[in-house]
Amino acid sequence: MPTEATFFLAGLFVIAAATGWLFARHSIKKESDPSPQTINADYLRGLNLVLNRQTEEALELFVRMAKVDDDTLETHFALGHLFRRRGEVDRAIRVHKNLLARSSLNEMQRDQAQFSLAQDYLSAGFFDRAEKLFSQLGNSSSLGEASIQSLVDIYEREQEWGKAIEAHRELEILTGEKSTEIAHYYCELAENARLDGDLALARQHLKGSVRSVSGAFRGALIKAAIAQEEKSYLEALGLYEQVLDADPRLMPEVLPKLFDCYHKDGREDECEIYLQSLVDKNPSLSDVIAYTAILVDLERSQVIKACIEKFIMEDSVLASFFDAEYFANIPDKSREKVIQGITSGLRDLAYSSPRYRCNTCGYRSEKILWHCPSCKSWESIRPLQRFQFEKLMN
Ligand SMILES: [Zn+2]
Repeated sequence: MPTEATFFLAGLFVIAAATGWLFARHSIKKESDPSPQTINADYLRGLNLVLNRQTEEALELFVRMAKVDDDTLETHFALGHLFRRRGEVDRAIRVHKNLLARSSLNEMQRDQAQFSLAQDYLSAGFFDRAEKLFSQLGNSSSLGEASIQSLVDIYEREQEWGKAIEAHRELEILTGEKSTEIAHYYCELAENARLDGDLALARQHLKGSVRSVSGAFRGALIKAAIAQEEKSYLEALGLYEQVLDADPRLMPEVLPKLFDCYHKDGREDECEIYLQSLVDKNPSLSDVIAYTAILVDLERSQVIKACIEKFIMEDSVLASFFDAEYFANIPDKSREKVIQGITSGLRDLAYSSPRYRCNTCGYRSEKILWHCPSCKSWESIRPLQRFQFEKLMN
């Protein structure tokens, strides 16, 4: 919520804007018109009411003012903006509706008033009214692009992916820039169709996911899930491995599914060879594999067991909790029991806090989300790949 100081400063801004123009007008007209300019008394009274926080009286006065001309128009816009920022959306709507009703506005001013009114409706949560006004402004020379972008925001919020695709295509034409979002919209449609059991429609939508590199990876994950549901494990494995090659950060998301496909297809030996090849190619993946395996209890593989043991022995925080040398020299069975105890504790630790975080704004979630609900970035939320030991210190 804005503070009193914010309101006061905003009031000063209104005054500054108004007096700025009046001075400008005065100096311009001085050359052609020798008659002295006077500041409209109603205007000063309205501004005084704003500064005295008598907003209802100020609003009535501004709305009643018979004349809205070039001199006073910007102050009306500033006042409407001020009300919206303060959360007084009803008042902002009255200011902007009052402006729109004036026949003296030129095309650009009318578009600005309509755009501001649409923003008011958006702030108030009247998405259908905002959508209608922004749609009418799609061809505006000054606000067409901003209006279509606002439509995209509404469609994303409402999860109307088909409309979001259409709007983004219009933006592509206007800006000449290729959109990465459209691929994600197709993925959203594909995922919905998959969850509804319409796999043919899901595949149809996935054709649109190849429009961007990242969309193609996400599309590959959905394709793999479809193949897995249809017991086409070989196809699913190919797709999961392709995604892991491209983005190993998705290990916690992909490894359990990949492991499941190998085992359901009776190819445990090949699973071992694949996991070993991952670690050989990139030794840093050993800890991520251990983290994932502890999280979802994938301890049946020898490679995974080795990754977990290495992680426990070498992690600097865990090392402070037990004697690593003693641990290395106890019989295998006893060591296995100790490892089970540690992994169980680590699993509880991991599940005691959100396991996904947005790289852009820090938003945390329990599951992977491709569209951050906080900062609205796409594909910025990724699985955490380490245990939050800091929680133990608190
Ligand atoms: Zn975010």
